[in-house]
Amino acid sequence: MQEFDFLIVGKGLAGSILAFHLIQEKQNVAIIDSLDGRSSSQQAAGLVNPITGRRFVKSWKIEELFPSALSFYSNLERELNTSFLKETSVLKVLLNREQQNDFASKCTDPIYTPYMNSELIRLDKEIPNPFACVEIKPVLQIEVQNLIRALKTYLNKACSLYQMEFIHENLSIQNKSFQYDQIKSKRIIFCEGNYVSSNLFFNYLPNRFAKGEALIIKAPELKLNLVLSSHINICPLGKDKYYVGATYNWDDRSLKPSEEKKAFLIERLESSINCTYEILEQIAGIRPTVLDRRPLLGEHPKHQGMYIFNGMGTKGLSLAPYFSKQLVDCILHQGAIEPEVNINRFS
Ligand SMILES: Cc1cc2nc3c(=O)[nH]c(=O)nc-3n(C[C@H](O)[C@H](O)[C@H](O)COP(=O)(O)OP(=O)(O)OC[C@H]3O[C@@H](n4cnc5c(N)ncnc54)[C@H](O)[C@@H]3O)c2cc1C
Repeated sequence: MQEFDFLIVGKGLAGSILAFHLIQEKQNVAIIDSLDGRSSSQQAAGLVNPITGRRFVKSWKIEELFPSALSFYSNLERELNTSFLKETSVLKVLLNREQQNDFASKCTDPIYTPYMNSELIRLDKEIPNPFACVEIKPVLQIEVQNLIRALKTYLNKACSLYQMEFIHENLSIQNKSFQYDQIKSKRIIFCEGNYVSSNLFFNYLPNRFAKGEALIIKAPELKLNLVLSSHINICPLGKDKYYVGATYNWDDRSLKPSEEKKAFLIERLESSINCTYEILEQIAGIRPTVLDRRPLLGEHPKHQGMYIFNGMGTKGLSLAPYFSKQLVDCILHQGAIEPEVNINRFS
């Protein structure tokens, strides 16, 4: 039997970043993951964007989440001696008069001015922009595959990894400890992303699942260095490759990419650019969202020492660093969990 301070179930971005914080606090951590490639984290575009949507909506808590993400990922790059983070801009193409008016009212609003340049920009002929463009910045673009690889290398050395499916019925809950297979741990934290629906301890929480699909394309004539947000987001990946997406589907829970969303993405892409391209890949993942669109953090109402860290939804890259630290501070240093994300908001 191996003994640990913490057992984490799920090694997507939520579980990995949480494990990182715990290890920094000198905790002895074990992680279980089936590692069968069904993680939503693998499919993310990698953006932390302060202003999103057709109507320029400022992201929730971005004043705190943005600096926290920037500092977390920059420190991680230094600590792991690698690079995956870029500060960039989003060029938002105004698609009609209504968006132009929306922009005009927001670009002088002090809540928005830190994130928007008030000058309109004209792009060249590869990108139709009849109503011009707006620059949104600062924006973070994270090379997600490099981040996951770096975290994997770190966690392989700093904690114990068990590649297996966690079967909730087989967890033995004892006085002040949890036992699973050959693992004994003082605390257990579930970070299972959309698979939380199979978790018999936490499946009472109002989870919703949003399947997202994207295309990876090659477009040598496009020559785009910044993220373009037109009829769809187009993110440069380097070497003439671009991430085009993503879609939303609240009903489909399969990980199989669909022909319907492929056609939708192609139509949006061809409305956004005037140059040739080749589709290299179509990807799909399920975002773990919550009815009230806020993360899920906290201790189980009946089982002391059992926690959940989930509900990262569409914004795992900005939410995971900030809220995993909050959960660790709560468990180890009697810190508070914000009421808006605490699972005790649901009975
Ligand atoms: C197409 C798409 C684009 C996105 N773009 C962005 C973006 O630009 N910016 C952004 O911030 N977010 C984005 N997201 C959202 C982001 O990917 C998620 O918020 C985040 O990855 C969720 O991470 P997670 O660790 O909670 O879940 P996951 O990454 O799904 O990880 C859960 C892990 O738990 C494991 N697991 C679950 N149950 C078990 C079990 N019983 N036994 C063993 N292992 C188990 C799974 O194998 C998996 O590895 C995007 C998502 C999609 C789908």
